[in-house]
Amino acid sequence: MPFKEVSFSDTEKAFSAKDDKALKKSTWLFKLMGKPLLVKIFSKLTLFSFKIGLPIKGAIKATIFNQFCGGESLDETQIAIKKLKHSRVGSILDYSVEGKDTAEDFDKTKNEILKIIGLAKGNPAIPYTCLKLTGILAHSILEKINAKEKLSPEEQTQYDASIKRLDEIFQQASICKIPVYIDAEETWIQEAIDGIAEQMMKKYNHEAAVVLTTLQMYRWDRLEYLNRLIENARKEKYFIGIKLVRGAYLERENLRAKEMGYKSPMQTSKENTDIDFDKAVAVCLENVDLITLCAGTHNEASTMYLIGKMEELKIDKDNPHVYFSQLYGMSDHITFNLADAGYNVTKYLPYGPVKSVVPYLIRRAQENTAISGQMGRELKLIIEEKNRRQHSMLLKAGN
Ligand SMILES: Cc1cc2nc3c(=O)[nH]c(=O)nc-3n(C[C@H](O)[C@H](O)[C@H](O)COP(=O)(O)OP(=O)(O)OC[C@H]3O[C@@H](n4cnc5c(N)ncnc54)[C@H](O)[C@@H]3O)c2cc1C
Repeated sequence: MPFKEVSFSDTEKAFSAKDDKALKKSTWLFKLMGKPLLVKIFSKLTLFSFKIGLPIKGAIKATIFNQFCGGESLDETQIAIKKLKHSRVGSILDYSVEGKDTAEDFDKTKNEILKIIGLAKGNPAIPYTCLKLTGILAHSILEKINAKEKLSPEEQTQYDASIKRLDEIFQQASICKIPVYIDAEETWIQEAIDGIAEQMMKKYNHEAAVVLTTLQMYRWDRLEYLNRLIENARKEKYFIGIKLVRGAYLERENLRAKEMGYKSPMQTSKENTDIDFDKAVAVCLENVDLITLCAGTHNEASTMYLIGKMEELKIDKDNPHVYFSQLYGMSDHITFNLADAGYNVTKYLPYGPVKSVVPYLIRRAQENTAISGQMGRELKLIIEEKNRRQHSMLLKAGN
């Protein structure tokens, strides 16, 4: 397909799924999230209120939950999926329940992911799905593996049970041809996650990338890791799937490194993160025969860089090995304009009971506050669209 110039400034396209009321609500919410102190209070108060059983669910659901999540259950997500599909945007259903730690919880998560795969089978509106390993295997066990400590017999049994759960998921994913992203988490469990992801890619990615891993480019060691992954995959003849992100745990990572006195795994500046992100994009595209790439970003410059690199390497914009992805409720100007121009685009669409999704919502609120300029951008775009609608109404009334 020929390349058509993409612009991210078309707010009419970006917000076509939002009516005036929804737009007004988003304005209010993003204004609140722009205030760091308020976000801090919200984070602490929400966790505390749920802990002592205060009835805040309704208020959370009507506001921040609705902005960033598709619903409390798979059924409830259908409205959002339909709307996204209408604009040629796929949904990556993300069962965002976090902080669970029992075998029963892990089975529940596994069953939910199997349900998503069943729903996605043969349905282009749900081309991928995803999981967090901490939703399937205890954080404490991942931490021990990462620290190269020996597991107790009981922990080993728990570990084996979780690998069995993963096998069930990936077997089903292979049969149904629905690739699964394994999300990246904190560095003190990530080496363990990488090990499992590589083991699963080796096992299930012989014909295509069914298992995809995530690389956080705010780490200074990830480019080298990417090259190692490629070398191994070429040698052992399996496909790899890579979701590139910048990374969501920057403050926590730097704080832990400082407190425990080790060299921070984080890049020394945002600029270095940006440089490595784009370098990784180039490496993935240069190996597009082997790699299925998902660029998980809201960064316009990186998105434009990826588009340009595809053009330079003569990769079709709808090449099934290249996907762009944003989080639901964020950067619609990128998502919908890319989709309209014919690129493969998806939204990560989190869902789950309000209480269980709170850690995800807090991360979104904090991230939006922390990114310099980003919140201003989201708000600016929404206000631009509100003004555009008002102007066009006035024009119509004048005619
Ligand atoms: C589809 C999708 C899937 C995702 N999956 C994951 C996942 O599995 N794991 C995960 O951790 N995150 C994930 N994220 C979140 C992601 O890591 C980022 O937090 C978020 O997207 C913001 O980065 P950005 O690329 O959009 O760009 P920007 O807004 O340009 O960049 C902000 C990011 O830059 C980095 N940064 C900021 N300041 C500094 C600094 N001083 N030094 C070094 N780096 C800095 C941080 O990573 C920060 O989040 C996902 C995001 C998307 C869109």
